[in-house]
Amino acid sequence: MLSENPKKVLVLLMTMDWSKLSFAYQDTNCHIRYTWKNGQWDRGELVKSPYINLHIAATALHYGQAAFEGMKAFRDKAGNVRVFRAEMNAARINSSARQIMMAEIPEDLFMDAVKRVVKANMEFVPPYGTGATLYIRPLLFGSGPQIGVNPAKEYTFIILVTPVGAYYKGGLTPMRAIVFDDHDRAAPFGTGHVKLGGNYAASLLPHHLAHEAGFPMDLYLDPVEHKYVEEFGTSNFLAITKDGKYVTSKSPSILPSVTNDGLCKLAEHLGMPVERRRIAFEELETFAEIAACGTAVVITPVNEIVRGSKVIKVGPREGCGPVLQNLYNHYTAIQWGDEKDVFAWLTPID
Ligand SMILES: *Cc1c(COP(=O)(O)O)cnc(C)c1O
Repeated sequence: MLSENPKKVLVLLMTMDWSKLSFAYQDTNCHIRYTWKNGQWDRGELVKSPYINLHIAATALHYGQAAFEGMKAFRDKAGNVRVFRAEMNAARINSSARQIMMAEIPEDLFMDAVKRVVKANMEFVPPYGTGATLYIRPLLFGSGPQIGVNPAKEYTFIILVTPVGAYYKGGLTPMRAIVFDDHDRAAPFGTGHVKLGGNYAASLLPHHLAHEAGFPMDLYLDPVEHKYVEEFGTSNFLAITKDGKYVTSKSPSILPSVTNDGLCKLAEHLGMPVERRRIAFEELETFAEIAACGTAVVITPVNEIVRGSKVIKVGPREGCGPVLQNLYNHYTAIQWGDEKDVFAWLTPID
């Protein structure tokens, strides 16, 4: 395998222009693929081709029986490669699997799969200092045929990896968000709390409409009353109160974000009170700082939220507020190995 050749690793590390990478798929050496049949998972194999030969009646295609995850591998200053909180993603994909009746993935199989696929693609883990990372995308779906609406009898679990660039080339840049009163991303007792492909299909049109209206982000309210703040299209909502509390939404229809969980732990560690509770839309204008959080970007400051004719301005016009900036700095320093991994969030690959 290419990656077992240290010279090739070195050549790629030296010749790639890591600073030009964006968040886009790029081919690597291989992905890893497992099949579940007759009640058990096979041993998995590294597959070079980025194509799958799939049955035309696979449940993933017809009935959306599919869930995915997103996490990252980081290369530290000494060159070591570590994955960030992969056990959380293992737990979450199994919570998704249970919700839509897919075969679950034992945590040790999941962790082993992550290590194998990253190891086989070592030269695609960007060097320290570029801000770029190796994005890891696990995907679990029904690959067995089924014409009646029933769970598949066969499942495929793959993990693909692809290098992605630093989201912020300069400092953290604040963005505007829009609230639509004629779109919801999830139903009250639906599937908003699990990471299903179908949830994203439902969000494509409102996301497009937001973009067309000049907003990079859309903020969803609770689907029952449109009274409480839920989350952004692909990231959780968090705010800092004027007296320095970390506040984030509590609702059965939001996705439990690994980033939000980590930021809450970090905030508590730094002595900040943390509140997980309902947040009324009217409360937005009382906050000192607002942000979205997720794996891809960690923190996106939000300085303006628009709903119909109402415009709410929060935090500094330019850049990021001081509390969020401080959380961001500590969080990313742990990821890059520049600060002590006090919560044991990193798993070495070697
Ligand atoms: C994936 C996702 C997030 C972010 O979760 P992280 O684990 O922090 O990446 C937030 N909201 C939704 C709807 C998501 O699908």
